[in-house]
Amino acid sequence: MSEYILVTGGAGYIGSHTVIELINNGYKVVVVDNLCNSSYDAIARVEFITKQKVDFFDVDLRDLESLNKVFDKFPIKGVIHFAALKAVGESTKIPLAYYDNNIGGTITLLTAMQKHEVKTIVFSSSATVYGDATRFENMIPIPEHCPNDPTNPYGKTKFMIEHILKDIYGADNQWQTAILRYFNPIGAHPSGLLGEDPLGIPNNLLPYLAQVAIGRREKLSIFGNDYDSHDGTPIRDYIHVVDLAKGHIAALNYLKNLNGGLYREWNLGTGNGSTVFDVYHAFCKAVGKELPYEVVGRRGGDVLNLTANATRANTELKWEAKLTIEDACKDLWKWTTENPFGFNIDNYEWKVFSDDKEDYRNRLHTVKYDNFEVSFANRGAIIQKIVKNGINVVCGFDEPSRYIEKSNPFFGTTVGRVANRIGHSKFELNGKTYTLESNESSNTLHGGLDGYDKQYFFGPVAKQFKKDDKIINTFEFNYVDKDGHNGFPGDVECTIKYTVDDSSVAIEFVGEHLKDSPVEETIINLTNHSYFNISNTKSTDGTVIKAITNKQLEVNDELLPTGKFVPTHTDITKPTTLSADCAFDYCFVVDGNGSGIDTRDSELKQVIEATHPNSNIKFIAETTDPSFQLYTGIGINTPGFEPRSGFCIENARFVDAINHKEWANQVIVKKGQSYGSKVKYSFV
Ligand code: NAD
Ligand code: UDP
Repeated sequence: MSEYILVTGGAGYIGSHTVIELINNGYKVVVVDNLCNSSYDAIARVEFITKQKVDFFDVDLRDLESLNKVFDKFPIKGVIHFAALKAVGESTKIPLAYYDNNIGGTITLLTAMQKHEVKTIVFSSSATVYGDATRFENMIPIPEHCPNDPTNPYGKTKFMIEHILKDIYGADNQWQTAILRYFNPIGAHPSGLLGEDPLGIPNNLLPYLAQVAIGRREKLSIFGNDYDSHDGTPIRDYIHVVDLAKGHIAALNYLKNLNGGLYREWNLGTGNGSTVFDVYHAFCKAVGKELPYEVVGRRGGDVLNLTANATRANTELKWEAKLTIEDACKDLWKWTTENPFGFNIDNYEWKVFSDDKEDYRNRLHTVKYDNFEVSFANRGAIIQKIVKNGINVVCGFDEPSRYIEKSNPFFGTTVGRVANRIGHSKFELNGKTYTLESNESSNTLHGGLDGYDKQYFFGPVAKQFKKDDKIINTFEFNYVDKDGHNGFPGDVECTIKYTVDDSSVAIEFVGEHLKDSPVEETIINLTNHSYFNISNTKSTDGTVIKAITNKQLEVNDELLPTGKFVPTHTDITKPTTLSADCAFDYCFVVDGNGSGIDTRDSELKQVIEATHPNSNIKFIAETTDPSFQLYTGIGINTPGFEPRSGFCIENARFVDAINHKEWANQVIVKKGQSYGSKVKYSFV
């Protein structure tokens, strides 16, 4: 059984990277963070990267009662304690806040640990505790036995906490305490999804330089070039944040293998010193251009050389830093260009979307333009709302609990692993017959009883960029659907990427049949089940639609395709007015030849447009798929919505394709291959 580790400050820069390493090493993680210097988006991205759930609590460490509840809830085996205020300069201005937060928070944490008999702690200390190590001879590189003399309130909080931990160990030598003294953490996660997100003007060298590189700051000030180094600038030990994060796993593993208690300090650094100019040149190389700088006077408190002697960590923890400054600069640049404002995105907000306000798994993410607003929720990666010119053009509930009611007709949801019907809940693949549970008479509809509409998707990774003067927002969700779930073979990773501009929502569907999957082939067919309504009333009656095709899949009494294409009852290639007497629930054929498994490279084809006399909104649906189900909502019967409250355009592969030899290649996905398709809904 994997062990639970509580990570305080896990939404922060070093904490979030460490949570990833913990998960990669088989630990379960609970994060406590009051988000005073971070964003929950970091946790959402950790989940997206690792595809594992991270339990999160928005709790201030000084709140003993809430902290105790977290310890009550999980069988926590150990704690990694990052949570702290960390700005040296600020600490000299508001020392009391630093002592209160850092020392007060630690005392509360230790009290809760003691109460719950959790006696293993890894503590984030800092090279700052050494103060100016150059005041002694032979103390560079700095060994752990170098005398401490922190020169600012921040450093003093670290120094005092070390002593508190030492005293606790003195009183009860069952405690296992690892003090990790970090040197200069730099860089970002190689995925480009996580990094340092400094609020305001950065104090540190690389975050400042990164902002110069993207044009947020004019130039770097180099604080003195008259030091005794190869280029006159001071020397520091810069360590890649991923290496640093791994140091915590090494420390935890070391403690785990001990028979008794321990109090011990380890330096986490590379053991190599680099000057400010060394770092500057490495970063310019990563960016591909020279960045403006000016040499100014020395910064008060800076010293010539603070390089770690990391031998103790290398030999005892069997850990060493492997990544270079060049790696860190490359990763930092990726993070910066892909997230120029860190986790902060203009006109984007999220909130918990659950009756339980602590339920961070259920969230609603909203992006707003002047006359357009779109909201997505994690459960089912749904489109909850689209508002155009003040008119809500998609059916959705404002009360989160409505979504889990049986009467919810798949409002806005992602549908999978196989959208639409599988005839008689059976199919054959590679000579094996798979039997699924039936949820619509004898058929399986929309992936079965526990389809994608009921799953919590990870993410979204929310990003914003400019293209041709337009602001584009993307929201990426993922979910791993394991072999056997709902009776389907093979492990599939499903990624849903929404791209929003000021008048449209595009969706890219990807279903990757993972290369370590236990079977050679599986089947995938993904769609989105939004119900559109541009009438500005509760009913879509009177909506005029016009489609690219009049050809539908003929179906039998069980609503299963016969294999033939037939014309529909009304020629919808001509303007057709929807009403109780003119309703549809048919799969229309855009391309009679079907499609391959990944249609993302095909051009988006306009398949339907709709208007309504009550509004001047024109709705357009485009897709790369060979067919779409047009469903005019005759069966809607859920609180607040009546029959024909919305119509769906479910882009997808042919219905029950797997049970028709000539269509099966539209849905069969080999191991290592990806299913793909696109749809775009515009409101113009
Ligand atoms: P960070 O600010 O990104 O992360 C700290 C996290 O702790 C933040 O998410 C913040 O919201 C949270 N936090 C602060 N006070 C809290 C409280 N009272 N209750 C709950 N959460 C609280 O900083 P970081 O760079 O990731 O640093 C992590 C740890 O490493 C800190 O203890 C810091 O002092 C130490 N450290 C950092 C550096 C560095 O250069 N980044 C160097 C040496 C040591
Ligand atoms: N530095 C600089 N310009 C800046 C920020 C930092 O020249 O805008 C130098 C600073 O003098 C020090 C090194 O970069 O020599 C690292 O500073 P940082 O504040 O990043 O970390 P510190 O070692 O002070 O904790």
